[in-house]
Formats: sequence, C-alpha cells, structure tokens
Amino acid sequence: MTTIRTPAKIIPRAFPGIKPEEVQEIIVNSRITTYPAETIICRENAIEFVFYMILEGDLEVTKVINNSETKLLKSLTAGDFFGEMALIHNAPRAATVKSKTNVIMLELDKEGFNRVLKRSPSVAMAMVHEISRRLRQNDQMAIEDLRMRAAELADAYQKLAEQDLVRQEFLSNVAHELRTPLMVAGGYLHAIQKGMLSGSQLTSTINTVVRNVDQITTLVNDLLFMQEIELVLPEFQAVDIIEVVKEVAGKFEGKAKARQITLKVKGDRGVSKVRGDAQSLERALSALVDNAIKFSPFNSEVEIRYIEQGDRVRVSVEDHGIGIAPEIRPRIFDRFFRVDRDGDQLYRGLGIGLSITRQVIQLHQGMIDVESELGKGSKFTMALLKWQ
Ligand code: ADP
Repeated sequence: MTTIRTPAKIIPRAFPGIKPEEVQEIIVNSRITTYPAETIICRENAIEFVFYMILEGDLEVTKVINNSETKLLKSLTAGDFFGEMALIHNAPRAATVKSKTNVIMLELDKEGFNRVLKRSPSVAMAMVHEISRRLRQNDQMAIEDLRMRAAELADAYQKLAEQDLVRQEFLSNVAHELRTPLMVAGGYLHAIQKGMLSGSQLTSTINTVVRNVDQITTLVNDLLFMQEIELVLPEFQAVDIIEVVKEVAGKFEGKAKARQITLKVKGDRGVSKVRGDAQSLERALSALVDNAIKFSPFNSEVEIRYIEQGDRVRVSVEDHGIGIAPEIRPRIFDRFFRVDRDGDQLYRGLGIGLSITRQVIQLHQGMIDVESELGKGSKFTMALLKWQ
C-alpha cells in the first residue's frame, strides 16, 4: 500500500523556505490529477501551458536527438517539478515526460502559475534556481554533444581517407595488372605483324599472346563478378563437385607447370552432389588454387581434396608455401587486402580473390576455414551443403 503524500508536505521539498501561506496559495490555485503508468504527460514540441509538481510516483524525461534516437535526460520523482519553461517562455515543450509508475500530480495552469509566481518569492526564487540549473545543464549537454560529433567527424574523415587510399591503391594495382599482360601481348603481336617470326617460334609466340589475353580476361571477369555477386542471387542446383574440381585443376595446369608445381587431385569417387551454383563455386575454388600456386615455392605440391562428411562436402586446397602470419589471418578475406611481398619475393594480385571466395561460400550457406603455418604452408577448406 502506498501512502499518498499531502501537497503540504511535498511543496516545501520543491521550494525550500516557502512560507505556509505560500503553500496554501499553490494549493488553492492547483488541482490534483492521477495518471496511470506509461502515460505521456507532456510531449516534446507540444504547445500547452500546465505546470506540474509530483506528489507521488516516478517519471522519465526524454528528448529526440538527430530525428531518431530517444535520449533519456533524467528521472523525476516526488518533490520534483516540471513544465515551468514553457510557461515562462511561452514556448513549445522542450522534452517529453512520461509516467513510469502510477503518478499523482499537482497541476497549475498558466493563470494559477502566474498568480503564485507573483505572490510567492520562495517559488519565484526556486524557479530562477531551477531554470538557471537547467540552462547550465543544457549548455553542458550541447558541449558534450558537440565534442562527440567532432570525434565522430574526425573518425569518419579518417575512414574516408583510408578508403580513398585503398581505392587509389586498388586502381593503380588494376592498371598494373592489366598493363603487364597487355604490353607482352602487344609486343608479340607487333612482331607477328611485321612478319619477324615463323615456324615453331611463331607458334610459341601465339601461345604466349593467348596466355596473356586469357590473363586479362580472367582479371576483367573477376572484377565484374565481384560487382555482380552482390546483385544476383544464384539459382542453386545439384552440382557435381568432382566436375568443378576437374575444371579448375585443368584451368591451372599450365600455371602450375610453369612453376614446376604438381597439382594433385584426391577425393571420394562417390561424393554426393552439393547445393550450389557451379560457376560461382568454380570461381571460389579458382581463387584458392591460384593463391596456392602463387604462394608456393618452385618444385612443390598443391593438393585439391574433396570428401563427404555428414551433411556436407568439404573441398580443401593445401600448399607448402609461405604460409600466413597469424596477425594478418583475420584480414585475408577482406576485399582489397593483400600482401605484395615476402622478403625479396614480390607477388602480383588485387586482393579480391579470397573476398570473392568468402562471398560465394556465404551465399551457399557454407563455411570456409583456413589452417596455416608460417613458412610451412596453408590449407583452405570450404564446406558445402549436400543436395538433399
Ligand atoms: P591476392 O591473392 O590478389 O593478393 P587474395 O584476396 O586472394 O588476394 O588474398 C589475400 C591475401 O591473403 C594474399 O595477398 C596473401 O597475403 C594471403 N594468402 C591467401 N592465400 C594464401 C596462401 N595460399 N598462402 C599464403 N598467403 C595467402
């Protein structure tokens, strides 16, 4: 059971030093109203002229910040008052006040409030105190808000600058990656055009031109795929993962041979089909095999393996190359992240391969995992759902 506190006890709490006749003055000019919990007593921006003194219960004062976020300014309880700012300034409500429990309130309308203010110096003084305290509080809040915004702006600016740098680097990498094969192909084509080559020399030159043009095509396709994958949801079908592996292994045979790398394929013959999009899966696996070859030493082995485990088919690519340092491992799947050198060895690339792989695997509701030891090698494993 709650006891209702009498106005005569509560009013002196709100206005210290108030005389008994001034308390009476407030009481005769006001009315007692009860509100259930969760009632909005006054609403931000509303134009209304009532002054409230809380006799019983708890309330919450909130304000909408940046058009969306509601910020709790403070809590009010018995003995607190609110609503005087609107009455003094003839201004809309600066905040919303809502009851958290049942509340009992002493309410004064504008005329009553003005009468009390004129006749009671204690009430007028308490108002002045309260208003100047609130103004100071508002100033502090505004300063804090400004500080926060300044920090946010600085942060956003820093991020933009970083993104800009990444974009510039990416563009110059793209230009570089395109220029090398273009120049090689162009140089040889000119030699062919001038009739400088014949016989086996001509055949091997044409092969080189084809290889370089293929490289450009792959690069442009990867760039387009990276854009498209966000827009087009592939239609899933039953995909024979053995076919995908064979296709990719075939595609990289030449590249592996050029580095004297043996590309091995191992797996269960009767492996189930997976739920997926063959073309996307081919790209995902290609990025893994491409990296495995690129980051492997001459004369080593890269192994593609597929096995069935429970409701999944796992496809892994293992190399015995440079490995991945633990500190960069969390970032290798990020778009544009790449390491361009290891000691004296430089590596080409755009930093989009693994981000494509991860995106494809995510679209397939699969998983990708990497185990790696620096200087020893890496093993990337994709787990794909079986076609049911
Ligand atoms: P790119 O190969 O164009 O650099 P990726 O997104 O394919 O971009 O790979 C990002 C980075 O992850 C690489 O630059 C490299 O540092 C690391 N990485 C990926 N695969 C391997 C691997 N098999 N061995 C060592 N490092 C790797």
